[in-house]
Amino acid sequence: MIKQVGTTPIREYHTARCHCGAVVLELHLPDGIVDPRRCDCSICRRKGAIVASVPLAGIRIVQGEDKLRRYQFNTRTASHYFCSECGIYTHHQRRSNPQQYGYNVGCLDDVNPFLLEPVPLNDGVNHPADRQP
Ligand SMILES: [Zn+2]
Repeated sequence: MIKQVGTTPIREYHTARCHCGAVVLELHLPDGIVDPRRCDCSICRRKGAIVASVPLAGIRIVQGEDKLRRYQFNTRTASHYFCSECGIYTHHQRRSNPQQYGYNVGCLDDVNPFLLEPVPLNDGVNHPADRQP
């Protein structure tokens, strides 16, 4: 977990916004930024976002729920949300753990995600749910 990024402390309640500001989320991050990663699965490699994890109860939509669009593919287990105005990915309900959201670290107010480098790469090509037991 990461409690500080550069000189910015990660507050217990942090605000995340899409680019145009239509969508505003409140994230409850008592443990800071948990498990930040990049991923090379078919969707993440295109988004290029640094993603961290939060329990489902850890995200509250403050504004713009009507602007959020959901995208699903393949097994349709995961739900990927993005702003219909500016196209920015904000968060997704994870396929590998549906009790968690992944969220776009780059949407956090006052946090420069590039100060997190190096960020581990998740092997999303070989998704845990697709691996043979
Ligand atoms: Zn937007």
